[in-house]
Amino acid sequence: MSDSAIIIAELTASVGEAPARAAAATNWLLDQRIIQPNDRPDPLWRPSRYIPGPAATAAVRDTHDSNGPVGDGIDILDQRQVHDPGGNYTPPTCPNCTTQLDEDAHITLVQHWLAQTEPFVTCENCATSALLGDWTGQWAIHVASVAVHFNNWPPLGDAFLLGLSDHLGPRCRLIQKRI
Ligand SMILES: [Zn+2]
Repeated sequence: MSDSAIIIAELTASVGEAPARAAAATNWLLDQRIIQPNDRPDPLWRPSRYIPGPAATAAVRDTHDSNGPVGDGIDILDQRQVHDPGGNYTPPTCPNCTTQLDEDAHITLVQHWLAQTEPFVTCENCATSALLGDWTGQWAIHVASVAVHFNNWPPLGDAFLLGLSDHLGPRCRLIQKRI
């Protein structure tokens, strides 16, 4: 199983829209040859439906070390769920003054997000109010109906992430997961 994952979660897709957005992102990733179907899914070794394609290195930030496999499988998820950073978890920070949310308060807010809708959060330091998904940090938790998980991949390039967001939607969030 994987040790880390780069997760791109998109926050505007409704439950109804998620399958079409996931399909659009999948088709684009296949067209770009970043991913290819996994002909031999193995529940222990490579359980994902997709594996890195012949052009996978085009997606990563540093291509100088392009020998050998880029990473493990790719999972494209279209069900509403929590996407968490595992052992990397750190509460997000205020988008205005970078004050960090209290961990207990953050977990309560995420539970509200999952059970109902994305909450607005007011910063205790500067009184800025923003949607929870607009608080910053790559080690936070997001609730999303569509997401792509790159298991054990190196950092992804900015141009690739922009291209992917064209298909997933306008509010993509990156989560660095460690298992
Ligand atoms: Zn603030």
